Amino acid sequence: MGSSKLLCVIGVAIIFLQLISGTSGWGQHGHYAICKIAEGYLSKDALDVVKKLLSESAQGELAAVCSWADLFAVRSHYYWSRALHFVDTPDFRCNYDYTRDCHDSSGRKNRCVTGAIYNYTLQLTSACHNSVSESRYNLTEALMFLSHFVGDVHQPLHCGFLGDLGGNRIQLHWYRRKANLHHVWDTEIIDTALKNFYGSDLSIMIEALRKNITENWSNDVESWEECEGNRTVCPNPYASESVSLACKYAYKNATPGSVLGDDYFLSRLPIVQRRLAQGGLRLAATLNRIFDSCGLISNMGRGVHGAYYA
Ligand SMILES: [Zn+2]
Repeated sequence: MGSSKLLCVIGVAIIFLQLISGTSGWGQHGHYAICKIAEGYLSKDALDVVKKLLSESAQGELAAVCSWADLFAVRSHYYWSRALHFVDTPDFRCNYDYTRDCHDSSGRKNRCVTGAIYNYTLQLTSACHNSVSESRYNLTEALMFLSHFVGDVHQPLHCGFLGDLGGNRIQLHWYRRKANLHHVWDTEIIDTALKNFYGSDLSIMIEALRKNITENWSNDVESWEECEGNRTVCPNPYASESVSLACKYAYKNATPGSVLGDDYFLSRLPIVQRRLAQGGLRLAATLNRIFDSCGLISNMGRGVHGAYYA
């Protein structure tokens, strides 16, 4: 095989692997929408720090890197990060309990999506309030992980049941195509809505979500952004909401072999839209709380070490 042909095969393989790796979080569209909404609610201070921390390839756009943590290359290189995208509960338990549920498959504590949100918030906060100008953490990666995981915790099946891996093992049909239930919630509901209602234009869908936030949901926004006890970050209630929605809507009428069509799509789409909006607003509120009182905005570097899980 000639070298150019080999490169082509490797390229196709990488793209394929990146595509299948995307099955483990909101799909790219969901994460992009959440971060795009968040961008519009960042305070000036927070926006300054975020722009400073982003890599050049992001071109100042947080949304451009919100699926970074799902890339095959990242998941392979930081193998430990695979457990950080979700927190599953014992089978058929519709409540979430940090102490019981936040661990990886080997039982190591704090290795789950809510634990990761605490961890990366702490890395960024400590860098802000440290008198030393250089952090021991890679703050660019901390920001990208945090932005991704706040998205993930809002996907109801990222807080699903252990036995079916948050719906990954439930094989069914999405209209005529084979799919698994987890993928339906990551991607299919959003992509079907994009095609049917928004002319396959993500920016129009995001605009519609923004409009809902300022009109239909305006009375809820304050309570969505709130963090009990003046905390910087509060992922536990988000996970509780997710598992409750998983039981009420995601798993309901979606058993192995089901054919999900219009009834399921139209009744679940409003839940997905609300979760995307909540994810965006809460990500912005969290970044504002972290960065608004950031003492080292002017000389906060990008950190020196690779991603680190404290
Ligand atoms: Zn993810």
